[in-house]
Amino acid sequence: MNEFQLIEYFFKPILSKRPDVAIGIGDDAASVKIASGMELLVSTDTLVSGVHFFRDEDAFHVAFKAVMVNISDIAAMGGVPCWLTLSLTLPEINEHWLCRFKEGLAQALETFNLALIGGDTTRGPLSVSITILGQVPLGKAIRRDGAKPGDAIYVSGELGGAAQALRFLMDKTPLSQDEKVLMQKLQVPTPRVDLRMMLQQYATAAIDISDGLSSDLSHICQASHVGALLQASLVPIHPLVKKYQGTKALDFALNGGDDYELCFTVKAADRSLFQQELIEQGFCCFFVGCIDDKKTIRIKKEEGRIVPLTAAGYNHFSMPL
Ligand code: ADP
Ligand code: MG
Repeated sequence: MNEFQLIEYFFKPILSKRPDVAIGIGDDAASVKIASGMELLVSTDTLVSGVHFFRDEDAFHVAFKAVMVNISDIAAMGGVPCWLTLSLTLPEINEHWLCRFKEGLAQALETFNLALIGGDTTRGPLSVSITILGQVPLGKAIRRDGAKPGDAIYVSGELGGAAQALRFLMDKTPLSQDEKVLMQKLQVPTPRVDLRMMLQQYATAAIDISDGLSSDLSHICQASHVGALLQASLVPIHPLVKKYQGTKALDFALNGGDDYELCFTVKAADRSLFQQELIEQGFCCFFVGCIDDKKTIRIKKEEGRIVPLTAAGYNHFSMPL
C-alpha cells in the first residue's frame, strides 16, 4: 500500500455529511463555506507517540483523543468546531493500527458533526497533528486577556481525574468498575463545547485546562495582567483522586493535566444570573476564587493560610525525554 492508496482506503471514506464543505479530501486544498455573521477559529495540536500517548496505546483512543484535544481549544474560545485536517506521520503501514485509528477518527467526527477535509501523510516517528477550524459569531471569541480584578473564576468540572487515570496506568493498578470509568477521562475526554452559549454570554476570559489549572489559570492572568486568589476548599477534586491521593489530592487537581475542562472568568455583577442560568440549563460549574489586581496567583488553604501557587502543570521543554 502506498501513500495514495492509504489516503484512498482509510481517509477518503470518512465522508462528511456537512453541506458547508465545498471541496473536501482529494484536491490540492479544501474549501469550506463560513456562515454569514461568523468568524473563523483555527487551532493546531499534535500528539507524539511516547510523549502524549503510550507507544502501545490503542489507535482508536489515539485518534479520538487527538480530535478531542483540538475541539477543546475551540470550546475554550466559545466556538463550534466544524472542520479539520489531519497530518499523520507513520513509521510503517500497519493495517490493524490504521483500522483502529480510522474507527476512532470516524467516531470522533460523528459525535461532534465534524468533517475531515484534508491532511498530509508522511513517514517518520509516529505522530498525529490536527488542525481544527471552528466558527464563532463575529467579535464573540472569548480570549485569555479579558479577565478584570473582581471577576469570579470558575472551572467547568471536577479536576485531577485524568492525572489519576494516568497514575493507574503507570502503576498497573488492578481496576474496579468505577475506576475503569475513570480511564475514559484520559483516553476519551469530552471537550466542553456544550458550554459555548453560556461562555459567549458571560465569560470575560477562558482557557481549556490541558496542562493543569495552576498553569492554565496563569496564562489567563498573564494575558490579562491580573492576579488571582483561589480557595482550596472550593477546588472540585475528583472523588477517586481524594480516595487515592489523600493529602496530595489538591495537588493533583491543581497541577494534573489532560482534564479538558474549561477555566473561565465572569464579572462579579453577572455572577448570580450566571449561576441561576447554569442551574436552569442543567450545568454544574464550580466557583473557585477571584481575579485581583496583584501580580501573582495565591491559594487560601483550608486552615486559612494564603500561599503562592506556582504553575506546576506539564511543560514539554522542562522535562527530560
Ligand atoms: P499534495 O501532494 O497535493 O499535498 P497529497 O498527496 O498530500 O496532496 O494529498 C492528496 C489529498 O489527500 C489531499 O486532498 C490531502 O488533503 C488528502 N490527505 C492526505 N493525507 C491525508 C490524511 N492523513 N487525512 C486526510 N486527508 C489526507
Ligand atoms: Mg501533501
